Amino acid sequence: MHTTLFYVIIILLIADTLWGWFLGELNRRNWADKVPVRLSDVYPQEKFEKQKRYRKINYRFGKITSSISLLVLLVFLWFNGFALVDQLVVTISDHWLWRPLLFFAAIGFASFLLSLPFGVYGTFVIEERFGFNKTTPKTFVLDQLKGLLLGAVIGGLLLALIVWFYRVAGTLFWLYGWIALSLFMLFFSKFYTTLILPLFNKLIPLTEGPLRTAIESMSKRAGFKLDNIFVMDGSRRSTKANAFFSGFGKNKRIVLFDTLIEDLDNDEIVAVLAHEIGHYRLKHIFKTTALGILQSGFTLFLLGWFVNYPAISHALGMEEVTFQIGLIGFGILYSPVSGLLGMGMTILSRRHEYQADAFAEKYAHAAALQSALKKISANALSNPTPHPWFVFFNYSHPPLLKRLEALDGKC
Ligand SMILES: [Zn+2]
Repeated sequence: MHTTLFYVIIILLIADTLWGWFLGELNRRNWADKVPVRLSDVYPQEKFEKQKRYRKINYRFGKITSSISLLVLLVFLWFNGFALVDQLVVTISDHWLWRPLLFFAAIGFASFLLSLPFGVYGTFVIEERFGFNKTTPKTFVLDQLKGLLLGAVIGGLLLALIVWFYRVAGTLFWLYGWIALSLFMLFFSKFYTTLILPLFNKLIPLTEGPLRTAIESMSKRAGFKLDNIFVMDGSRRSTKANAFFSGFGKNKRIVLFDTLIEDLDNDEIVAVLAHEIGHYRLKHIFKTTALGILQSGFTLFLLGWFVNYPAISHALGMEEVTFQIGLIGFGILYSPVSGLLGMGMTILSRRHEYQADAFAEKYAHAAALQSALKKISANALSNPTPHPWFVFFNYSHPPLLKRLEALDGKC
């Protein structure tokens, strides 16, 4: 017999998927049949037709992916899958540390296997068909293996710490867990481009030449050291172009994809870099990390309250209360709250983008930034007319036309 809380969990999961579909449907109805006038120079008719095919196929693929994921999860829950895995793990070890670690390793690996075919299809069928994919099967396999290993090491370490605190610190375990998690977050925010990224990509300093010269005076005025600008071989995986800022202190870096250098002229690259320097000068990474830390404190505090709540373990089919089952149940019940918090973060992120654009306009040409944004967006076949609601809930960056408008007054 399933408990009431079980049905609450089921309804939450279904509602979450339906909500995603509803936003997707709104977005689909907002698709333009004609190129918006402002983008006609970067979207010639033929390219726009290609863009339409690309968004259609991605829309359908997203719907199939989310349907299958939901279905698998519902069936798994119906048959008390989490409790079964936990009971299976106990036959291997009932040690206080190994049991939860093995449990999450099993769940993590199963969800990795489940998402793998979608990853393969997305990369080697969809992206390939539209000429984006540059990933070789070898790179893909290595990426997956490195991702798994990294997840196991980082996730395993953090989980082990939290489980240990849970055992020794009693009701205050969430506080110690929070301190540990915050240190992890600071560490990865600082060292992402110096420790993690090089595992997947090659980063090289800007070489001497006209581009470096073009960047030199701008970066000096904007207050960023040229030594901290790196070029990354994004072309190993995709033709899509990007640039980002990450890290702090000595480890701050701006990373330019080599594909971006290929697609844009020097003035446009300077403008994009000025935008990234804006993220640094306006302390966006620091603000986002600080908020992330506050959020995780709130989450862990609630987890401390609910993890031992017997009804949660019972809802997932367990007689006894265990940390791992409590954590899974809490995670699902908490998802509407984390959805709201995530929404707050995307609002903030979009504001940061406008601010970085405004910063860029002071140190580079607004018109160059506009043409850079248009090219990057069109080359990635991005949707030029997303629905405002879809943007509100999902977009970390404002839609292209809005960014162009905001820069208009400054040309
Ligand atoms: Zn940005």
